[in-house]
Amino acid sequence: MSDLDELYQQIIVEHNRSPRNFKKLEGATRTAEGDNPLCGDRIAVSVKLAGDVIQDIGFEGKGCAISKSSASLMTGAVKGKTVAEAERLFAAFRDMVSGDGTADASALGKLAAFAGVRQFPSRIKCANLAWHTLHAALTAAAEPVTTE
Ligand code: ZN
Repeated sequence: MSDLDELYQQIIVEHNRSPRNFKKLEGATRTAEGDNPLCGDRIAVSVKLAGDVIQDIGFEGKGCAISKSSASLMTGAVKGKTVAEAERLFAAFRDMVSGDGTADASALGKLAAFAGVRQFPSRIKCANLAWHTLHAALTAAAEPVTTE
């Protein structure tokens, strides 16, 4: 295992142990629920939008280490960003974990910790769940999200 893999592993373990923004969000303007039945991950994402800016974000739910740490890192990454910026991050993240490995992850910062997930197809949905759920919240999709 390379030093970088080890660092990434540590980020995931640490965010699983003490997830950031793991809370019920008071005054949320958007919420969505996501479900990854393949693994048993369930998540609810709440967002407080001020105009076009994600002023605050929280998530609740249970799931595996990948889904939980991904949700934790996602909330940190998009807080304070505009909806359009968050959607761009989602697109870059999705390319990284499910693309052919040539995606440019330079804009992703700590989110690059999930680059290795690409090698484990069954875990890609775990890593993407929080992002799909955020996307649903931001686009105000009425239907619950499922990765199936
Ligand atoms: Zn999972």
